[in-house]
Amino acid sequence: MAGNIESFLKSKKEDIDKLASKYPLKKSLILDFQEFWSYDKETAEKLRVSPEEVLVEFEDTLNNMGVLTSVEKPKFFVRFRNMPKDPGYTVMVRHINAEHIGKFISVEGVVNRKSEILPKVNNALFVCNKCDGREWVKQDKKFLKEPGFCRQCGRQSEFRFMPEESEWIDVQELEIQEPLELLKGGEQARTIKLWCENDITDVVSPGDKIILTGIVRLQPPKVKGSVFYKFLEVNHLEGVEREFEDIEITPEEESEIINLSKDSKLYDKIVGSIAPSIYGYNEVKEAIALQMFGGRPGKVLPDGTAVRPDIHLLLIGDPGVAKSRMLQFVNQIAPKSIYVTGKGTTGAGLTATAEKSELAEGAWTLKAGALVLAGGGIAAIDEFDKMTEEDRSAMHEAMEQQTISVAKAGIIARFKANTSILAASNPKFSRFDNYKPLAEQFDIPPTLISRFDLIFPLRDILDSEADRAIEKHMLKMHKSVSDMKEIEPKVSPDILRKYIAYARIHVKPVLTEDAADKIENFYVSLRARSSGGTAASTPRQLEALVRLSEASAKMRLSNTVSVVDVERAVKLTEFVLMEIAYDKTTGQLDIDRVITSYPSSTRARIRVIEDILRNLVGSSDSKTAVIDDVLEQAGAQGISKSDIDQVLNDLKNKGVIYEPRHGRFMFTE
Ligand code: ADP
Ligand code: MG
Repeated sequence: MAGNIESFLKSKKEDIDKLASKYPLKKSLILDFQEFWSYDKETAEKLRVSPEEVLVEFEDTLNNMGVLTSVEKPKFFVRFRNMPKDPGYTVMVRHINAEHIGKFISVEGVVNRKSEILPKVNNALFVCNKCDGREWVKQDKKFLKEPGFCRQCGRQSEFRFMPEESEWIDVQELEIQEPLELLKGGEQARTIKLWCENDITDVVSPGDKIILTGIVRLQPPKVKGSVFYKFLEVNHLEGVEREFEDIEITPEEESEIINLSKDSKLYDKIVGSIAPSIYGYNEVKEAIALQMFGGRPGKVLPDGTAVRPDIHLLLIGDPGVAKSRMLQFVNQIAPKSIYVTGKGTTGAGLTATAEKSELAEGAWTLKAGALVLAGGGIAAIDEFDKMTEEDRSAMHEAMEQQTISVAKAGIIARFKANTSILAASNPKFSRFDNYKPLAEQFDIPPTLISRFDLIFPLRDILDSEADRAIEKHMLKMHKSVSDMKEIEPKVSPDILRKYIAYARIHVKPVLTEDAADKIENFYVSLRARSSGGTAASTPRQLEALVRLSEASAKMRLSNTVSVVDVERAVKLTEFVLMEIAYDKTTGQLDIDRVITSYPSSTRARIRVIEDILRNLVGSSDSKTAVIDDVLEQAGAQGISKSDIDQVLNDLKNKGVIYEPRHGRFMFTE
């Protein structure tokens, strides 16, 4: 074995010389496992089953080759990368079991936690309490190994550990989890801890997808017991850029995908495969379909700012309108996604945090949340309005810059978060009020709302016909198998996942001139239609239109965005604007309804007065608002007395308020 190792290393002379010239900045010789396997199968197999022995042999051989004469005792490391993909070598986290203990394997995962870099004793110096004899003890385990007896005085003795004179190395604990795109339909990702030493500390960050080689080790339980915990002692690790490429697509599936892309009913088929068991909401499903494909990545404006390709959607609405169901469904079929609730009950967290954790025994740890882990995919965030203050501010940055920064306890870190957000939220006062701007009905700041490309209010329609249709639809789902056929997805979830992955890898659509003109015309018309100078359109919306059009082209596997794509984007945008920004009293689009609260029409006056009433009621012990106060406060906002009387009458007639005594108002609920 030794001879082969030496001759193999000699064949790497060029690499070794290069490494030596960079020492001590670079210390690791990185070898290709498969190349070595072709060179010496027997030793390569030995490396797999008893790695420690072979790695030590490699390092000793290299360190004794005298490649560096200027340094007294250079210490090089040998690391192996590129193990074969077969199950004997590359193992999924969930499949690492007892038979792998002590073996050399390759694992792929996404870093979700990283501890700070900690010093670990590598060679510990002890001094005998009886004779002051010095005793060096090499430390290879996590726990400090003490000398058994003193070689100088020959007695069993107590020793003093001499930290300052001992040799230390950098260590870092990481945790990885299975890449989301390798999990099927909402499976929970498994995790495993990694132990890194020396020059492979601090080379990756939470959110990075990595491929590593290492030895499966066991860590004894803290309290006495027989169940040990697995961790990986990392030999080599590197980042991988691949994202959806890991989703395997056979040649047969590829031709199925191409055929489907030419189907004249493609769009309907794909939209019809999104949450087929949920009745209605066709526009929402269309938007979700586009979101899964996303815009064209890598666009940069002339001034150098990057334009995000990710489409963000917000569903806001009454309880029980199937918002959560919709999100869970997307999580089942999107090729890469995560489902979390804003309350963070899932424990994963939303953005990123620095915390003291049990990882690395209570050292500071950076932990990636859903947005970081789902990078390149979709984060379905339920109860978006319930997220913590911390997450909320991080969300602003994440949704526009696609990064998340953490600055805490001296840790400053920035993560990539190129994630599309599908958020669901309830109205603040549990039910929708058509008279109020959306912004006031949700605990979501306008600055955050404006970052969504499309916002869908989902109302619990009291329309009896729609009710009956939903009922019928739901019954159908629960009834006989023959009926079930009708709600079967038009494209199987498996093919849909692969179709989306295929489009995301291969299709990079560019706007045609006609398409660009059409977008511009629509954008200009929006400005013309909006009221009082406040634009229904903002530059953000222009970008959104481009993104949606690009996504539509990607859905057709087309490398050009044509007019049909823009038409789809326009139709959806129109639909949403009519839902959220159309003011019936003025007949105009009024984006204020969504993002600000400046009164400009009857419904605005109603809103202002209702708010005044609520405030007055809230601050009075008897829960009543007195007319004089209402007149004063509403008058201060420029509303005339006759208008105030009119609104109060309307509110009384609608049963919102009543007047138990003249000039005193109370709310009915
Ligand atoms: P939300 O999150 O909006 O409060 P859920 O997702 O928990 O609502 O859904 C509530 C229930 O109502 C679910 O069982 C869902 O199946 C049903 N439901 C409501 N609207 C529809 C619809 N349009 N089609 C099918 N089921 C619906
Ligand atoms: Mg819900």
